[in-house]
Amino acid sequence: MKRSHLFTSITLASVVTLATAPAASAASFLSPLQALKASWSYEGETGPEFWGDLDEAFAACSNGKEQSPINLFYDREQTSKWNWAFSYSEAAFSVENNGHTIQANVENEDAGGLEINGEAYQLIQFHFHTPSEHTIEETSFPMELHLVHANHAGDLAVLGVLMEMGNDHEGIEAVWEVMPEEEGTAAYSISLDPNLFLPESVTAYQYDGSLTTPPCSEGVKWTVLNDTISISETQLDAFRDIYPQNYRPVQELGDREIGFHYH
Ligand SMILES: [Zn+2]
Repeated sequence: MKRSHLFTSITLASVVTLATAPAASAASFLSPLQALKASWSYEGETGPEFWGDLDEAFAACSNGKEQSPINLFYDREQTSKWNWAFSYSEAAFSVENNGHTIQANVENEDAGGLEINGEAYQLIQFHFHTPSEHTIEETSFPMELHLVHANHAGDLAVLGVLMEMGNDHEGIEAVWEVMPEEEGTAAYSISLDPNLFLPESVTAYQYDGSLTTPPCSEGVKWTVLNDTISISETQLDAFRDIYPQNYRPVQELGDREIGFHYH
């Protein structure tokens, strides 16, 4: 799939609105109305429990039925919900502080992505949450990485990778080296291979969910890996100096089924 497919007509505009924050290269696609949307945060009166009340456009945050994140669990009845595979390649990313997280946006080249039931979802950006947003069997993790992908129609698929305390992580080191402490400062370009962020086993949970940030739009295909990657205390501290916590608490599972895909 060519990168140019993402840049046709209104598709990109919807991707930009839905994603955690606009890609730096796509900021000009935001309309003035979108820029006026309510500001939100991870604490106090603009925190997660109030997101749905802050703006009509955020209604799904409080009345949605398929919200993310959720508590993930395994039982023997579980089967996979869809076939998936990934294929990433080294590419240039611009790293920014968007006021909610540190985010690396794919620059104008192909970084690869996911294939879900034969359909291509191209990587557009990745970003971090601390502590983790998803839990496994009620267990929280120190950090979670979200690799955000979009298909031709602008539908999103997110790959979540949980982290545990351990050694320095090479991929994180590359991002942290340039991450801006101040919101809105210039984005820095780095070359990075997204494969660095994948553990050896990619056995995964799968479910239908939403963005974990306003507007909490649904229709997002979630794949969360069962295995973790490491992050060191020093690396975690460096992120928490900028964002002490930036996670949305787990949401009701409701009628949804969680798939489990061995790999
Ligand atoms: Zn996220």
